Amino acid sequence: MIVIAIANQKGGVGKTTSAINIATAMAASGWRTLLIDLDPQGNASTGVGLGAAQRELSSYDVLIDELPVSECYVASTIPGLDLVPATVDLSGAEVELVGVEDRTQRLKRALDAHKGHDIAFIDCPPSLGLLTLNALCAADTLLVPLQCEFFALEGLSQLLQTVEQVQQRFNADLGIVGIALTMFDRRNRLTDQVADDVRECLGDLVFEAVIPRNVRLSEAPSHGLPALIYDHSCPGSRAYMALARELIGRLPAERVAA
Ligand code: ADP
Ligand code: MG
Repeated sequence: MIVIAIANQKGGVGKTTSAINIATAMAASGWRTLLIDLDPQGNASTGVGLGAAQRELSSYDVLIDELPVSECYVASTIPGLDLVPATVDLSGAEVELVGVEDRTQRLKRALDAHKGHDIAFIDCPPSLGLLTLNALCAADTLLVPLQCEFFALEGLSQLLQTVEQVQQRFNADLGIVGIALTMFDRRNRLTDQVADDVRECLGDLVFEAVIPRNVRLSEAPSHGLPALIYDHSCPGSRAYMALARELIGRLPAERVAA
């Protein structure tokens, strides 16, 4: 199984939207896909149709009670896409983990033992705390959504610093599969400029596919559906499909076959 963390410590940059729609695109391409909601807000869970009342076992149980992943996921409404939901008690997990000896390795251990999915996406919370650290320790690689706005690059350097620390201390093999530009608005010269700057600075690390600002992407969650299902031909959905194709091309071939 390939594990991809979707992380950026800034909120509202498109992590959850990207996690939901890329995971849906992978499932539609025949990958047995697991989406792990690691944000106490639970937006990824809602976004694939699992309301708060329907959630029983969750990522909290994986992290704190060390339940196997196989017991904590449920099928989503999308064929081929399973979900480990988040519940509100996850907000306490950050504090509860502090006292645990192997606090950074809980998710990694659970995912190492897990079989039955080809790929897992972890939707991280907007912080660099222990939840995100668990995701970075468990992941093979990182996908970073970056909103095209003025402070984007500053926030990114903080994230890259954390990635370096994780590589040095916990997970030497952690890669960055790519940076996805989100909420791109062609009519706004600033976003254009930021996109150019990011490409100049980070080169090929930035995916070719750019996610446009598209109201269909923000409407879809209120219907409990990924945009890719809600309106598969809107510009946002098409951009996420292109991004998923690019992502597949960047995954290590030997792992894709495994
Ligand atoms: P994060 O998980 O990083 O906090 P979200 O994916 O939840 O970010 O996005 C924040 C808000 O912006 C949500 O309301 C979402 O529906 C909306 N949104 C995300 N991406 C887009 C986009 N490309 N176009 C328009 N709205 C978007
Ligand atoms: Mg989110």
